[in-house]
Amino acid sequence: MLKSKASSNATDQRNITRLRVLEQIRATEAISRIDIATALETSPATITSATADLLSAGLIQEIEGESQSKSTRRGRPRVLLKLHGGCHMIAGVKVARHQISVILVDFEGTEIASYTHPLDEARMAPEIFTKTIRTALDLACGTANRSLSDLSGVCIGIAGLIDAEKNFVHWSSSLTERNVDLSPLLSKALPCPAFIENDANLVAKAEQLFGLGKGLKTFLVVTIEHGIGLGIVVDGKLYRGERGCGAEFGHLKVQLDGALCQCGQRGCLEAYVGEYALIREATIASQATDPRTLTDILTAANAGDARSISVLSRAGQMFGMGVSNLINLFDPECIILSGTRGSFEYLHSEDVMTRIRNGVVSVDAPLPEIKVNHWGDSMWAKGAAAYGIEQVSILKVRELAAHAN
Ligand SMILES: [Zn+2]
Repeated sequence: MLKSKASSNATDQRNITRLRVLEQIRATEAISRIDIATALETSPATITSATADLLSAGLIQEIEGESQSKSTRRGRPRVLLKLHGGCHMIAGVKVARHQISVILVDFEGTEIASYTHPLDEARMAPEIFTKTIRTALDLACGTANRSLSDLSGVCIGIAGLIDAEKNFVHWSSSLTERNVDLSPLLSKALPCPAFIENDANLVAKAEQLFGLGKGLKTFLVVTIEHGIGLGIVVDGKLYRGERGCGAEFGHLKVQLDGALCQCGQRGCLEAYVGEYALIREATIASQATDPRTLTDILTAANAGDARSISVLSRAGQMFGMGVSNLINLFDPECIILSGTRGSFEYLHSEDVMTRIRNGVVSVDAPLPEIKVNHWGDSMWAKGAAAYGIEQVSILKVRELAAHAN
């Protein structure tokens, strides 16, 4: 018993080393074994063993680098290691209200194809949801002359309270039911492992890997879409909370017994700032019977319509209050406001910034930087793909250990 525990600890340790080596190789374009050993403060022998395992699994490959010593004729070419991009194809999926965006990438994250699938219904029964994702993936693979069976993993980003480790959805605006374990349905619908994650966490992941969060240790990403999401990165890692639902900024209460939120509670920030809330407010304010779109409200406000200006201004003030609360709680290096261009300017106007500054507890230090990033739908999916690559790497390294034992 003791022996088996010791051997499983050794396997765990080897897996951790293999993953760290893989991450180090991913962080550079190409790197030598000795440079990996230096970066990870590990012995060259340990790195040689880990890279041999990764090479045999086909996850990395050797390439010839420049000669170590250009001045001598004897300078032999250095052997460098890089990811083997072609070894896996991974899909990143973002489910929005009216469409599903799919991006297919290789193991290096290079885009193979992207595809947008229209949705008739924003809310779906769980089985319809997984079937629709399969259809979208099937068509996406078709555009690249590939098939579903070529996929090594799929990561699906949806709005809501998600326990990513269990593929369990406590609640999502994309599903008609609460408390859904999507694992069995995804296994039935797809021929490869699938991972569900909160969409704001995926944007935080994408900001960290390719965007404004690069190189930052602690930052927050507020996503502005149909609802309001939050991704929290602390010490370089995504913080999810104990139940996987610790970043529900949209459901921060800003008003006692206030407006009804789509989550079923009252007084949530989202019930004042989310697109559906603005449409609801503007419809009541104008006493119109027809539902209006956010674009209608923005156009009317630009044309000087006082009611539309008032609805947007109130949303901005509520949002500013929420963001100053975030700064008071987390004291991050930076807050990134992320959304589609043209759709949330009223949430980062000078008035909103003043509200934020006035709401932050006063200290003699500059405020965290507030940056605005305009992301298209493909970027959400890109974050999903980045998370998918991470998860597939973990699975493949585990498989390696299973074969070795
Ligand atoms: Zn709510």
